[in-house]
Amino acid sequence: MTGSGDPNRPVENEIPFETELIERLDWLIRLRWLAVLGTGAALVLAYLLYPGGLRLGPLSAVTTVIILYNIQFLFYARTLKQSHGGAGRLRSATQFACVQIILDLLALAALIHFSGGVENPMAVFFVFHTIIASILLPQRVSFLMATLAALLFAAVGILEYTGFLSHYHLPILGETELYLNTPYMLMVVGVLALSLWLVAYMTSSISVRLRERDREIAQSHQATLAKSRELEAVNERLRRIDAERTRFMTLVTHELRAPINTIHTCVELALAGRASPQTVQDILERVKKRTIELSELISDLLRLARAREEASQDEALALVQSEDVLHSVVQLMKTEADNKDLFLSVDIDPGLAPVRANADRLKLVWTNLLSNAIKYTEPGGIVAVALKQTPEHLVGTVRDTGIGIPPEDQRRIFEEFYRAENARTVSPVGTGVGLSIVQRIIENWGGQILVESELGLGSKFTIVLPRAGV
Ligand code: ADP
Repeated sequence: MTGSGDPNRPVENEIPFETELIERLDWLIRLRWLAVLGTGAALVLAYLLYPGGLRLGPLSAVTTVIILYNIQFLFYARTLKQSHGGAGRLRSATQFACVQIILDLLALAALIHFSGGVENPMAVFFVFHTIIASILLPQRVSFLMATLAALLFAAVGILEYTGFLSHYHLPILGETELYLNTPYMLMVVGVLALSLWLVAYMTSSISVRLRERDREIAQSHQATLAKSRELEAVNERLRRIDAERTRFMTLVTHELRAPINTIHTCVELALAGRASPQTVQDILERVKKRTIELSELISDLLRLARAREEASQDEALALVQSEDVLHSVVQLMKTEADNKDLFLSVDIDPGLAPVRANADRLKLVWTNLLSNAIKYTEPGGIVAVALKQTPEHLVGTVRDTGIGIPPEDQRRIFEEFYRAENARTVSPVGTGVGLSIVQRIIENWGGQILVESELGLGSKFTIVLPRAGV
């Protein structure tokens, strides 16, 4: 079984049968040493009890041959263990097992021949080899081995019976001529052959079933491993979401506290009653400004929360003509651009394909990008909007000749509340949330937002959205 051996061994890429076979090959080599010891002891005993009764010369020669080939097997088994797994290794292990069993059968036939032939009850040892073959080898091969064993035994019996091979008496039986007794010889050979086939059938049926069960267990083990890896990935994602949520909550609290602190200080100053009516007026103006900023921040946070929620649920999308949305946004922003003395150019390709989106959200995207371009471009500059299509995407760009974004900030401007230093100087008012909302929305729709910018020269924001139906 696969379970034998080291329990910590990875089982993922192993064929259970292969592991089993390789382990059993070692076991077979060890068994052979035992058999050699047993044979040696039997020879010594026979020598002591019946000196000169057994053909010790050929029997020792066969035993020596067994010792020699077992040493070879020992080395080959080591090489096989170190080789890489896979079908090739399984084939080599099967061939190796076949060679071992065939040599053993030949050796056993020789031992039996030199020690009484069909009269020797050691013939039952053929059964052991048949069992071993049925455990280690495919069913078909184990039947072949049983047949080979039966044929070898029959050959010894028939060749001795017909006189082609000499017969060597077993000293314990004296000079009996049982091997020449036709019914006895045929019966012994027949019964052994039948027993070998029956043993091969029974053992290999059980071992085939066990191998199948082993394979099923290995498969279900692999399925469990895959599931647990999946669960680990989900767990990791949840951990990351949790960490991000905590970070976000900390940022929000921090951003909300600053204006509230200012408002609180202003109100306390006004309530102290020591300020002149003009100062109170100024204080109230500051409070008003901070309140407006606070309300803008809260609106942005709500939009961001919605974009995050839409990312986790499946947002209902419709087919949207993005040029219509862009036209309406440009209409709204035009006054703002004119007020700042900016040149606003619009370039929209005709016959654009629709995108799967939400018109209100898309409006928010264009508004954010355009208002940023206007906000961060000095009077007299240019803001250029374009909308094109490729075979698979709709590509929108908002380009400006404004302050640009320092290279080290370009990656971070999509983080919530992040504002580059130069932007803070040009426009102290801003939440730093707009681009994170835009990015969330675009990514929810399977799109992408990119930024290219050069400090002092301008910026270009590109949104890429998949065309509907492509
Ligand atoms: P806000 O504009 O409120 O600061 P945004 O999330 O829209 O927040 O933008 C984040 C930051 O990205 C800005 O603070 C600014 O540093 C940078 N930025 C965005 N658009 C531009 C642009 N067109 N030109 C220069 N900097 C920009």
